[in-house]
Amino acid sequence: METIVQSQKTLFLSGKTLSYEFRIRQLQKLKQLIINYQDEILEALFKDLHKSRFEAYSTEVGYVLKSLTHTIKGLKKWMKPKKVKTPYYLSATSSYITYDALGTILIIGPYNYPFQLIIEPLIGAIAAGNTVMIKPSEFATYTEKILVKLVNNHFDKDYLYVIEGDYTVTSKLLDSKFDHIFFTGSSRVGQIVYEKASKHLTPVTLELGGKSPTIVDETANLKIAAERILFGKFLNAGQTCIAPDYIYVHDTIHDEFINILNQVINTRYSDMNYFGRIINERHYKRLIGLIDETKMIQKPTVEAETKLISPTVLIDVTWDDKVMQEEIFGPILPVLKYANLKDLVSLLKTKDKPLALYLFSNDKKNQTYVFENLTFGGGAINDTIMHVSNPYLPFGGIGMSGIGAYHGFYSFKLFSHTKGYVKKATWFDLPIIYPPYTKFKEKLIRKIFK
Ligand code: NAD
Repeated sequence: METIVQSQKTLFLSGKTLSYEFRIRQLQKLKQLIINYQDEILEALFKDLHKSRFEAYSTEVGYVLKSLTHTIKGLKKWMKPKKVKTPYYLSATSSYITYDALGTILIIGPYNYPFQLIIEPLIGAIAAGNTVMIKPSEFATYTEKILVKLVNNHFDKDYLYVIEGDYTVTSKLLDSKFDHIFFTGSSRVGQIVYEKASKHLTPVTLELGGKSPTIVDETANLKIAAERILFGKFLNAGQTCIAPDYIYVHDTIHDEFINILNQVINTRYSDMNYFGRIINERHYKRLIGLIDETKMIQKPTVEAETKLISPTVLIDVTWDDKVMQEEIFGPILPVLKYANLKDLVSLLKTKDKPLALYLFSNDKKNQTYVFENLTFGGGAINDTIMHVSNPYLPFGGIGMSGIGAYHGFYSFKLFSHTKGYVKKATWFDLPIIYPPYTKFKEKLIRKIFK
């Protein structure tokens, strides 16, 4: 494995991956390969997580195809050096920003969107001119195999290479010196990655998770709120990093909202053929352990053999409940009550900064209050999870939910070094900066720098 990392470094140093033509060709090739392999990818996602074709296409295959189209279209402009303003005291000077490729990148992926969360950062890394080592999640085994086939059979291993294996492989990989590590996964493993990266002072992007709150205030359109919250929560059986983890509902509309949630569950989630399954037995058992049977609004269907847990809503939940002690990452939705928005915001401020936050409200003052007073990775007003699909928005967490942001141009920028430089004319020189320093020179510099 170390040999491949070294040969990727050698290829990078040769400069072959840097030209616009090379990058575009690789992006186009990747796009065509995904189109060619799409049926196999959809099948792998079904086998790993029981994703329906609609879900697997919209959140994984189609999602990255759209991202490739966006990147291919934008790359020429993104790569162009940008001229920026120059202050008057830098006389006869012009200033520029260029984006330099970083070198050899390591991308580590999670199991929940096992295709998208490898390919999406990969698009940025290729666009920025790097060579890339890829370590998919070992838990989504079928998708891992298809990634190996798609990448290793069609790209030179000195350029892109997928390495299979469990966490010991990742751990060994992390001993090598990379130019950047892009990790998506849990905060627990994120800390391990960060610590290992620090040995080489390697910069990291950490796309982590956590408990993302949703607030439904007394002015919200309750039917729309129920539809959109349940959609965001139960997509991929709740195994989505930006899924609403729990909901706070204003006490005056609480009972009505619970009734609506119940109705929507009955209409939209009666057929479990279109519903995801939990990735493995460990997580299935963990989730079952979070369900307090005395708090369910309806009894879920659970099936250990297929790892099915149908949509489960828990009411009268408090922060003492087990379900509130960790990121749920499954189809269990706890509902809590609140009476005063300011008090709720004060409470949420005491929690870790979440990856996402959603507010359902038709009151502009409440919208502004929540979005100005709380810090979180990203979010939505009157919707859930959709911000992730806009390539013009940076996507990433803050604090325990992550470091750095990507998507679209932000991915290109993330995998580049933003280099600033000035270009100065030689026909003009301002000798005041050179010693000896007189009183007059000091007076002058004080006039300029203030
Ligand atoms: P995980 O942290 O268990 O695993 C992620 C990757 O780390 C896997 O490839 C795994 O092989 C590797 N790994 C595991 N243990 C390791 C160790 N000790 N040393 C080195 N590598 C190790 O995460 P997961 O269970 O696959 O995914 C779920 C988590 O990911 C959730 O917390 C979720 O919120 C988060 N997530 C975040 C985003 C985001 O974009 N922010 C997206 C998806 C998932």
